[in-house]
This record gives sequence, C-alpha cells and structure tokens, in this order.
Amino acid sequence: MSKYEFLPMPDARGYFGEYGGQENIPPELKQVMDNIYQTYCDIRNTEGFQSELQNLFQHYVGRPSPVYFAKRLSQQLGGAQIYLKREDLNHTGAHKINHCLGEALLAKHMGKSKVLAETGAGQHGVALATACALLDMPCEIHMGEVDVLKEHPNVTRMKILGAKVISVTRGTRTLKDAVDSAFEAYLADPQNYFYAIGSVVGPHPFPQMVRDFQRIVGDEARVQFQEMTGQLPDQIIACVGGGSNAIGIFTAFLEDDEVKITGVEPSGHGLNTPDHAATLTKGRPGSLHGYKSYVLMDEQGEALPVYSIASGLDYPSVGPQHSYLHDIKRVEYVAADDKECLDAFMRLSRTEGIIPALESAHALAHAIRIAPELSPDYKILVNLSGRGDKDVDFVAEKLGL
Ligand SMILES: *Cc1c(COP(=O)(O)O)cnc(C)c1O
Repeated sequence: MSKYEFLPMPDARGYFGEYGGQENIPPELKQVMDNIYQTYCDIRNTEGFQSELQNLFQHYVGRPSPVYFAKRLSQQLGGAQIYLKREDLNHTGAHKINHCLGEALLAKHMGKSKVLAETGAGQHGVALATACALLDMPCEIHMGEVDVLKEHPNVTRMKILGAKVISVTRGTRTLKDAVDSAFEAYLADPQNYFYAIGSVVGPHPFPQMVRDFQRIVGDEARVQFQEMTGQLPDQIIACVGGGSNAIGIFTAFLEDDEVKITGVEPSGHGLNTPDHAATLTKGRPGSLHGYKSYVLMDEQGEALPVYSIASGLDYPSVGPQHSYLHDIKRVEYVAADDKECLDAFMRLSRTEGIIPALESAHALAHAIRIAPELSPDYKILVNLSGRGDKDVDFVAEKLGL
C-alpha cells in the first residue's frame, strides 16, 4: 500500500486539497463549465471517444513515443543513468498535441461551433490549430502583437493550418493581453464556443481534463521503462510551466512511494531578482484565472510580471494539483536558471544529437546537476517535453554561434 491516497482527485467541486475549484467566475460561466464536465464524464470512457483518441495518438501523433537511454550523456556525467521520454518526437514537436487533440475532440462531440485560445510564443496555438485542421473545427487564436512579430514562423504555421490569428494591440501586447482578449471573445457566446486551455490550469474541469489527456505520457513510460530495465525509475524529472507535461508523466508514478518525483521551475536571472517564474518556490496561495493555487504576487495580491528564457514556462501561477503535491511533499519542486538551461541545451545537443526545447532543458539541467553525485545504478527518467527547433536562432544569437 502506498502511503499516499490520491483518489478521487479532484473532488466533486474540482479541488485538489484546497487548490483548484471554480474561483471568482460568473454564474453563467460556471454553468458552461459544469456542462463541459458533465459531457466529459459521460463520454470519456465510452468506446467511441476512447478509440478515436487512441487511434489519433497512435497513427497521427506517432505514439508511443520512445524511452531512450542517454548513454553518452550519462557516461560524461559519471554518475546516475539518464533516460529520456521522447515527447519531442511527437507530431508538431511537443507534448501539447496530446491535450489539444483531446480538447478539440471534446468540442466536436459537444457540437461547439468554434474553438478559441490564447497563445504566447505560439506553441499552444500551433498545436491547437493542428488538431482543429484535422478535426475540421473553426479555430481562433489570440496573440499579443509583440509576440506576433517575435514568433513569426508560428504565426505563419497557424495561418497555413487554417486558424484565424487575432493580433492583440492593447496593453503590453503580450500574453496577458491575449488571455483577456481571447476570454472576451469567448464570453460573446460560451454556449457555442469552446475555450481550449493550454495547460493543467484554469477553472474546473480543465486541470483534470488536460491531466487525463496527458497521462498517456506516464502510462507509456512506466511500461516502457520496466521492459527496458526490469525496474521502475528511481527518479522522474519534468519542467513545470502550467504543469501539463509534468503531471502527464508524474500521474503514473504518484503511488509508487519508492519513485522520487521532481518538478523544475525556471529561476530565470535568479530567485533573488524579479526575473523568474518559480511559482512554487517563491509564490503563495491565491487565486488567478478562475482557480486557487500558488501565485507569484505583490503585497496587494496582484499577479507579478514573470520571466523565463523559455517562453512556455513564464506563467505566474501553476496547475492546482502541483500546489497540492507540493504541500503534501509528494513531489519536490526545484528551480533551474537561464544559464543552466542553456548549458543543458548545448550539452544534450552535442552528446546525443538531440536538440531539446528550452523548456525541457530546465528538467535536463536538474538531472545534470544531481547525476554526478549519484551512483551508476541510480536511474533518472527525464520528460523531454519538446524539441528545440523553435529555439535554435535565439540560442545561436545568445551564445554567439
Ligand atoms: C508549453 C511547453 C511547456 C510548458 O507547459 P507545461 O504545461 O508546464 O507542460 C513545456 N515544454 C514544452 C516543449 C512546451 O511547449
């Protein structure tokens, strides 16, 4: 028996312990969320929905993604053995396609007329536009004007895939304004539109649904790792922005008390500067975007501007289940800074010929930090959430390559 009891999680009101729920959302939206949850509960275990999703995972995304033993990297570090769960090999290059397909499929089953979302660097936008093209759903992506200019290839991708891209010109013209804009557009007709949240965040039922769509990562890895090594990993490591790739791999191992689990947040320019997004290390419980969780906020309770070299990690809160796992100490949350991330990015590229996403490089950085002190029979499984093609120009400029 595990000393941890997780089921049912979340509870009927959408809480993981004291975190999550539907906080400060208008009654009509609460009704829409409850309706989504009801439909989700009705169809998630039906043969039709599951076989459609599993079929897409296998033949479209390319699942199962492999588990790979990074032999040269491990040898170079001279300690623990490092394995990678290769979500970078998925169609579109990251784990996000897993939940985007799930959400778009759900929207289609509900007869919704349009799928909306915001995007920062464009990764969620591209994954969602991909799922919507495949499932023939109209898709509208809101993106700050600054990001539209900065992330032009992703904007082009979304357009080619048939999504309508709205360039948001208000405020600082970045992610926060894109969220506000997309949310307003959604509120024009929440009965017929579906807001596809990009991580395990937002009001209930999104933290649960997105987790359920992502848990395939850990379910596969658990079987694959045992087939390869005859045992479970000693430690799992994943990066945490909103927390979807992390909860995706963690879920399958939460009740294995002997498996140590570690989430890595970005400490950016340093935890003693304002330029980081280490929510669980430096934040405190509060409520933002319709749910309760740890939040990086000022004295007045306003969310702080956050920063990471990896744009997929710069979010001032975190999925509510992570806050719960943090408080009960089932998962340890640590941080890696920009420099460690860049070192890990280059090291994996040059030892294994795998260019990781800057987000995933944070998880790798922690593995690289601890491996030399550990024995060679200690096995670490890192979730390589995505590939770094999107980051190569930025890194080359940063390092003067
Ligand atoms: C978006 C993204 C992340 C961060 O999102 P989570 O919800 O925390 O997983 C991590 N890695 C990659 C490659 C991403 O694109």
